[in-house]
Amino acid sequence: MPSTMKAMRVHELGGSFQLDEVPVPSPGPNDALVKLKATGVGLTPVLMRRTPGLIDKFPRIMGHEIAAEVVEIGSEVENVAVGDLVTCHFYLVCRSCDFCRSGRETLCENFKGYVGLVLDGGFAEYAAIPALNLCIIPEGITPLAACIAADGICTPYHNCTAEAKIKPGDRVAIIGAGGGVAIHAVQMAQLCGGHVIGVDISRQKLKTVAELGALATVDASDTDPVEEIMALTKGVGVDAYIDYVASKETLEMGMACLGRGGKLIIVGSRAPAAFGGVSPKFSVDPQKMLSWAQEIHGSRYCSMDELRRSLDLVKMGKIKPIVTETFRLEDTEKAFEMIQDNKITGRAAVLFD
Ligand SMILES: [Zn+2]
Repeated sequence: MPSTMKAMRVHELGGSFQLDEVPVPSPGPNDALVKLKATGVGLTPVLMRRTPGLIDKFPRIMGHEIAAEVVEIGSEVENVAVGDLVTCHFYLVCRSCDFCRSGRETLCENFKGYVGLVLDGGFAEYAAIPALNLCIIPEGITPLAACIAADGICTPYHNCTAEAKIKPGDRVAIIGAGGGVAIHAVQMAQLCGGHVIGVDISRQKLKTVAELGALATVDASDTDPVEEIMALTKGVGVDAYIDYVASKETLEMGMACLGRGGKLIIVGSRAPAAFGGVSPKFSVDPQKMLSWAQEIHGSRYCSMDELRRSLDLVKMGKIKPIVTETFRLEDTEKAFEMIQDNKITGRAAVLFD
């Protein structure tokens, strides 16, 4: 084991990554030391890096969507062993409150923060992670595919099953459909039996959405998505509208094309502090909501069980991880910039030697 490692660290709120040589962390009694193989890059860390109050101290190594090999375990660790290939649950939770114990750990009453924000994560050669956050990767999945499952695929698993409860034949609008999480929701919604209408503002992303089997794609940069969705559903509206953008505009579009009994699922996060103070507050007509028995759901990440199931779906070939760009650790900042500029279809990832 080397004594130092390369790490990309953020030194101030919203600052760029700097390549630093730092000590390899030593795992505590409940931690595992892992050697990184791949770390996914999505919009979540890009937004979180500039949102006040999420990173507890600087410098910080971000990166939560990891695939890594366990190289050392603490004295109390029982759930993983040296040599296991693992991925990681993003939330640091208490595991003892009512929410944790009922499979809704993302609502933990004693939430401690996120891996890569209050704990050093995967944009480094090694990381020490609480072993109970680790999930063993089944054989036959590449590290690149597995790292994407740890957020890009397990999040839509929860969105589509636990929140939207998609049934065969449901009409499902997916907003921001070409993004790193939503592109897997396009697949997940179809796996649940839904017919997908993918909405995005990038023609190139919509091409990929269409290739993944969507019933229709709508380019919101030159058409009115509400009109298109109502026409595509013959005036009935959609059974589920899963919003990965979640701006005021897209949420109000959702209320306008939601059908009877329809569910609006909010996944995209728009903390005003990360969006120049612009709030995504939107209006709802409670009378229409009542008459049509519509539902609005907030959907947070996933449970450990849903993460495990997502990895199995990747192994079975039911969900195909869409990674269109890979980077070296030293180029993590470039990956963040490309995501920020909306230039990446699906996910990006940092790959290690
Ligand atoms: Zn808890």
